[in-house]
Amino acid sequence: MKEIRMVDLATQYEKIKIEINEAINEVLESTAFINGPAVRTFKENLEKHLKVHHVIPCANGTDALQLAMMALDLQPGDEVITASFTYVATAEVIALLKLTPVLVDVDEETFLIDPQKIEKAITSKTKAIVPVHLFGQCADMERIMAIANRYNLFVIEDTAQAINAEYTFSDGTVKKAGTIGHIGCTSFFPSKNLGCYGDGGAIFTNDDVLASKLRMIANHGQSIQYHHDIVGVNSRLDTIQAAILNIKLKYLNDYTKARQAAAEYYDHAFEGHPLLKIPKRTLNSTHVFHQYTLKLSPEVDRNGLKNYLAEQKIPSMIYYPIPLHKQKAYQSDRYGPGDFPISEQLAASVISLPMHTELTKEQQDFIIHHVFNFLKRYIS
Ligand SMILES: *Cc1c(COP(=O)(O)O)cnc(C)c1O
Repeated sequence: MKEIRMVDLATQYEKIKIEINEAINEVLESTAFINGPAVRTFKENLEKHLKVHHVIPCANGTDALQLAMMALDLQPGDEVITASFTYVATAEVIALLKLTPVLVDVDEETFLIDPQKIEKAITSKTKAIVPVHLFGQCADMERIMAIANRYNLFVIEDTAQAINAEYTFSDGTVKKAGTIGHIGCTSFFPSKNLGCYGDGGAIFTNDDVLASKLRMIANHGQSIQYHHDIVGVNSRLDTIQAAILNIKLKYLNDYTKARQAAAEYYDHAFEGHPLLKIPKRTLNSTHVFHQYTLKLSPEVDRNGLKNYLAEQKIPSMIYYPIPLHKQKAYQSDRYGPGDFPISEQLAASVISLPMHTELTKEQQDFIIHHVFNFLKRYIS
């Protein structure tokens, strides 16, 4: 059996090596390293794939979120609501721009931001909501958009973990993750569902005005060279990364299906076990399984399980061990330990198993066997 990895980029690369190497070589020969033709073709291919008017490629997912906030003309002290159980990047850019991150708790079964709690957190200073499509399925976008419309708020979707997920509205309309809010942000970090071989990111919007503003901000605040109308940043997707993404985008649907099949295989094995809960699917979104995350019963020694798996050469990860409101950099007199009990409970009880496009049944059987083997000690 092949070595089990959390994400097996090596085996995935083996299968597309010829195409990838050719694409990289083409860029090397052309020396068009910055804004070469592949950046434009990737942008257009992704627009078609997502059925969104504008894709603005940028340097990484964190930049995408920052550019999105900058484009909305938010003022210091404006409040932006996001989830307490997420990767730090979301809150980081809010704080960096001197906006106020307002955290709300998540749903204990789906791990997604709770719309009811969003509504409770709205004040006269609230300007935007950043739902995070955590682990690969969309937050409850129909309700979030309804709340945003009612209170006149912007919605920036953090789609870094959910590219290619599909959300179905109650009228039957289907939209891709990241194309529902005013702006969507994603990351092409290598381990993401559409990953390049370095850093990369992109912003999505259907709004023409926001799109040209986002493009300006990403390019030093200029629309004409050396004419700087607003303060911007330098955030670009390298041509080499765009060339790689152009190849990988062709396989994104297959990659998504491979992850979903692996998740179903895990589900089938783990469902109904008294000491763990399989990841719950929402009704409206497909799940693209950036992570396959189990929730353990309180009596299970999570570190013990993790160490036991490691001894069998099975990697596992804790996403995320500390919720944002307990992170040193995000201390606030607005909240403290105990305020987001579900996030705290999840931080203490979740464990993510290997999940990627190359998992074999043999590897999964091995992982499943050893999870069960560890849990046996709790069952008399
Ligand atoms: C990965 C990730 C980001 C940041 O992406 P980078 O490309 O690493 O900057 C932001 N939000 C979430 C939820 C992520 O998982």
